[in-house]
Amino acid sequence: LIVLGIETSCDDTAAAVVRGNGEILSQVVSTQADLLVQYGGVAPKMAEEAHSRAIDWVTQAALDKANLTAKDLSAVAVTIGPGLSLCLRGFYILSGPGPWLCSSDFFVGVCKGREIARSFQLPIIGVHHMEAHTLVARLTDRDLQFPFMALLISGGHNLLILAHGLGHYIQLGTTIDDAIGEAYDKTAKWLGLDMRRSSGPAIEDLAREGDPDSIRFKSMSSPLMDFKCDCVRFLHLVAKGPVEVYVGPMENWKFTAISQLLDAEIPLSLASSHERSSRADIAASFQRVAVLHLEERCERAIEWALKMEPSIKCFVVSGGVASNQYVRARLDQIAKNKGLQLVCPPPSLCTDNGVMVAWTGIEHFQMGRFDTPPPADEPEDTVYDLRPRWPLGEEYADGKSEAR
Ligand code: ATP
Ligand code: FE
Repeated sequence: LIVLGIETSCDDTAAAVVRGNGEILSQVVSTQADLLVQYGGVAPKMAEEAHSRAIDWVTQAALDKANLTAKDLSAVAVTIGPGLSLCLRGFYILSGPGPWLCSSDFFVGVCKGREIARSFQLPIIGVHHMEAHTLVARLTDRDLQFPFMALLISGGHNLLILAHGLGHYIQLGTTIDDAIGEAYDKTAKWLGLDMRRSSGPAIEDLAREGDPDSIRFKSMSSPLMDFKCDCVRFLHLVAKGPVEVYVGPMENWKFTAISQLLDAEIPLSLASSHERSSRADIAASFQRVAVLHLEERCERAIEWALKMEPSIKCFVVSGGVASNQYVRARLDQIAKNKGLQLVCPPPSLCTDNGVMVAWTGIEHFQMGRFDTPPPADEPEDTVYDLRPRWPLGEEYADGKSEAR
């Protein structure tokens, strides 16, 4: 089994070829660093154009590096959501609980994937981007079995989930505003750091020079508790004995405008003109408090989940922010304290990549969830299954999801 994975859900154009046994044959990522500098963040329209320019050479390079042609592939896996919703164009309305509107960014990858699948009559697998961030941990750690806990921290998500099986996830926590990756990005921008490097690593490096206790940040706790529904669902799903109803609060994350979290003594407008040492102190203090915020929630969620599902052995941390060494070290400690093993994919597989998409495609393919090859004479106005808004844990259209 050899699968090509294609990823274009945000600002990276990525493709990879992976074997059914987990062997990575190639991995190619084209980033949009220049656009990030120019626009100070991801500009959906520009991102789409950059994907269009990159997609052909990125997929071809992935095949070339693997020493293969598309004829050698068994299937194509492509991210169909979730992702940038700013650039929703509304020209595709899909079935299901939607209406699902097409984000032009997905369109680039999905079109390419379908073009290859159509030309070579290959099955195609639509992949959930956050499931891919999760499942790539099962490629890098082949002993990782369901059920496990996972924290997904990235540019668009903070998700605490209990993974019961393929396509079967229970969400224990999510963000109510900015995701932690976005908080890193805003802080980097605010400190005037070089955006050509990814903002997260720039803060991580600068923070090494700073004093994490030098600046007081306001608490990021929020009293909101919109986990109730999921908790009830969770109890129904996993309770095997008398049900002990969870009554304590599970807070959501709040990373609203990072500037508001600083106590007023730092003139915000001056942040980027501070001496390097003061900026390092800000970076270190921001990082400490942001990660502390994760630690508290993970600790509570793990305790609670272990009561319900004592067979959990592993705590997966993935998504772009999981490539941060400080984040990994702190969460490793939390996992250890709770008797779990931390599983973190290598940094290059934490940020967006084609490998995670190919691998998730492989996992689904192996349980029979894939679409038959698009007909060779597929009309140009065919409506594709694209899901810019697609909560993790929601069933795939065919309802095939089960624990293994
Ligand atoms: P999502 O996965 O939620 O759709 P995305 O795909 O844009 O969002 P990822 O590529 O998974 O996000 O992660 C990118 C984010 O990770 C960015 O916000 C980036 O700043 C952050 N990031 C990357 N490396 C690091 C690091 N070393 N430290 C902190 N943050 C980092
Ligand atoms: Fe991502």
